[in-house]
Amino acid sequence: MTPARDEIVDVQQEDTFTAGLRAAGLKLTSQRTAICKALAGMAGEIHPTVQEIFEAARRYHPGVSLATVYNTLAVLKERGLLYELGPDATGAVHYELDVDTHINVVCIRCKNVIDLPHVSTGMEETVARQTGFQLIGAQMLYYGICPACAPKETAQ
Ligand SMILES: [Zn+2]
Ligand SMILES: [Zn+2]
Repeated sequence: MTPARDEIVDVQQEDTFTAGLRAAGLKLTSQRTAICKALAGMAGEIHPTVQEIFEAARRYHPGVSLATVYNTLAVLKERGLLYELGPDATGAVHYELDVDTHINVVCIRCKNVIDLPHVSTGMEETVARQTGFQLIGAQMLYYGICPACAPKETAQ
């Protein structure tokens, strides 16, 4: 079945998260749409925790429940539209909302995660050649002590 032209335009105007839910066959409830809007607003800016996503989504729709946030994140993760970066010192899991290949740099003191836009390292070619894989993405994480935390470190 070929979708009507109008339909294609409509889908392109949606953020990638809303489009992902639609593609997964989920009903776009106002709760889910609010969560997607919140995610789209944070993508490429911060690496939010579930709690932060929940609070941001509530600004669009006060009725959003934490359970729906978890369910929605699970569906989006399954579709490869976000992934978990792992827990910080408090145990809260941070999410990566920008799945384009980029380097994350995390500070082991303040747990701040900074994005470094794609820096070509030649690594992908090497990995693809040595494994025979057709690569579709990468997760890269560097860790260290950020400039804001470094002075405290040397003062000790
Ligand atoms: Zn720091
Ligand atoms: Zn990132």
